Amino acid sequence: IQWYPGHMNKARNQLEDKLNLLDVIVEVVDARIPVSSRNPLISDLVGSKPHIIILNKSDLADPQEVKKWSEYLASEGKFVISLDAQHKTNMDKLFNLIKEAAREKTKKLEAKGASNPTIRISLVGIPNCGKSTIINRLVGRNVAIVGDRPGVTKGQTWLKTSQNVQILDTPGILWPKFEDQKVGYRLAALGAIKESVFHADDVALFVMDYLRQNYLKNLVEFSRLPEADVVNLPLPELLLEMTKKYGMRDDYDRMSMFLLNQLRKGRLGKINLEKVDA
Ligand code: GDP
Repeated sequence: IQWYPGHMNKARNQLEDKLNLLDVIVEVVDARIPVSSRNPLISDLVGSKPHIIILNKSDLADPQEVKKWSEYLASEGKFVISLDAQHKTNMDKLFNLIKEAAREKTKKLEAKGASNPTIRISLVGIPNCGKSTIINRLVGRNVAIVGDRPGVTKGQTWLKTSQNVQILDTPGILWPKFEDQKVGYRLAALGAIKESVFHADDVALFVMDYLRQNYLKNLVEFSRLPEADVVNLPLPELLLEMTKKYGMRDDYDRMSMFLLNQLRKGRLGKINLEKVDA
């Protein structure tokens, strides 16, 4: 992927510039792909700063897996919270976690006489993971949010919230790192990369293979075919059978796009494309 390195370096520099202004880094990931939707660089950047990970879109993810990922990430010393920013408006739990993460600094300032010192945070994450939605929830109204675009200089404005937390108005955009093709497929499957880097049918076949191994029941139900066919047919044939079953004749591509769209909307069930122990 050619655009990757230049963008990544700029995003990195922009984040580095801002780091000393921030008390807590809030990283937003997609709960269905908590590893593939991160950029490993973030950990180096954040260093010893308090680091919150939001497993967002948890309404679409497999609850058991979200629980396991929360435990796993917490065991690495991160502050973790799962969230459905789309439907939940109450952000008290997140506010409390931000305060907990910033407690060391807050305590120091309070020892010097400050009362209720301001905690400054920034949200970072790959495109489309829900940063703007979360910022709007925290601020309690819709603000026009423009992410850091490489090469576009923006003023630094702090958005106020109802609590002693302020948010940098431009979330940091991290680019996913997909040298591993599977990571690319997972991101494409969930629409996290818009660029048509892959053919829809390749992504659909990848998803079907994964579902067959991990969420067979969901695939059987979606396919409208007998379980034996779903288990035994070679994947391309299975996709063709599904295409026919859905009345799309032999329009393989249309069926592939349909499957991916349904997956993204949660119509195949609450599914994780990345599991802790897989
Ligand atoms: P950003 O690019 O990181 O700022 O992402 P946005 O906040 O623009 O969100 C991308 C899309 O995901 C939008 O269509 C949101 O409505 C949707 N979205 C955000 N959070 C959630 C969530 O928790 N659950 C669901 N189902 N959708 C979400």
